[in-house]
Amino acid sequence: MEGPQLRFSTTVTMDRPSTSEQWIDLLLLRTTAPDYATHQPYYTTGSIVSAAIVRVALIGIGGIVARQYIDGATLWYAVLFLMWALGAYPAYRQYQEFNTRIDKMSEDTLCGKCRYFDPTNQLCTILDEHVVDDMPPCEGEAWEPR
Ligand code: SF4
Repeated sequence: MEGPQLRFSTTVTMDRPSTSEQWIDLLLLRTTAPDYATHQPYYTTGSIVSAAIVRVALIGIGGIVARQYIDGATLWYAVLFLMWALGAYPAYRQYQEFNTRIDKMSEDTLCGKCRYFDPTNQLCTILDEHVVDDMPPCEGEAWEPR
């Protein structure tokens, strides 16, 4: 007689970002895919733009606060530089990486060649699911050419 079989899953706890991971994503400090990004992309066009807006706003608020202690145009030059260096430029770099990933996906995967694939958020529009690897969420059954 056989005993009960044990099942192990390696993805159950890795497909949702923790609070600290969400903060890292928001501040755009990532350079490689995190562990949780097995079932969802860690950046999309929307998250890149919203994270840039948040960073620029935080730097602007920091500048307004610093204005009470530091006087002169130098402060605002520094704030403008930080908005570019920590707000806009990382978003630009991340957007380039995102586009590279989407280009590769469009070349190498079934979803990338499907009419239901939305590259701006790496989404299958009929299943409303993110596509993260070369295995289509529909298993190829709903595929239609572009
Ligand atoms: S319908 Fe299937 S092949 Fe097309 S994008 Fe969705 S999951 Fe991918």
